[in-house]
Amino acid sequence: MKIKILGSAPGLPVAGQHHACVWFNWGSRNVIFDCGDGAASRLTEANLGGDVIDHIVISHLHPDHVCGLFMVLQMFYLQGRRKQLDIFLPERIQKFTNIVKFFYLYPKRFGFDLTWKSCSEVGNTIPGVTALANDHLLKYRDRHDDSDTDASQRSYSFLLCAEGKKIMYTSDISSVHFLRDIAADLDLMIIDSLHVPREDLYSMAALVKGRTVLNHGSLQGMKALVAACPTLNLIAAREDEEIIL
Ligand SMILES: [Zn+2]
Repeated sequence: MKIKILGSAPGLPVAGQHHACVWFNWGSRNVIFDCGDGAASRLTEANLGGDVIDHIVISHLHPDHVCGLFMVLQMFYLQGRRKQLDIFLPERIQKFTNIVKFFYLYPKRFGFDLTWKSCSEVGNTIPGVTALANDHLLKYRDRHDDSDTDASQRSYSFLLCAEGKKIMYTSDISSVHFLRDIAADLDLMIIDSLHVPREDLYSMAALVKGRTVLNHGSLQGMKALVAACPTLNLIAAREDEEIIL
């Protein structure tokens, strides 16, 4: 199992870091979770363009997790990609496909089949991956325009069980309670270090049997969180490092 955090930045841009994108490879399968700004460049730098990626899974529709998708589609088209691509979205799939056309990207003209699916069914296509609904967007329930009736505030974390390993990618979360029953079995937890209180980060990391990677923060801030609790098996996400399990 190989993992590379291609984008580790928080929502506010940070020099030298990119927005959310994590690559997983096991067997012959290549998946990226989230596709923030800069994802196309990062995939290119990691030699993951063309036909390499099988599936793209978007945790929620905040710009720092999804805005890179349009450039990734344009890149695959221009690279002459041939392999089918599955894109999993948390909600509003029909509206999203219209936005793709708004950018003059026409999947019918692509040299590859593009399928749009719901994150809730990700395990049917990618065995071993489970989508766990989280609370990150629930605070937006009362902020919607009345016309935006199909917004369901869906946001997901993902559990991957493959090759005898268990890995959690939380993406953005507002609380950690859903991790308590899972943490002890995890070989690796990649956790949002921006929205979670420091004491909750540490208490979850203490439960994890393997390593915890702090993600979605400035490198400087994440390193400070690691340094403040040296007894835990914690590291700060590094975009230039491959994690092998
Ligand atoms: Zn985010």
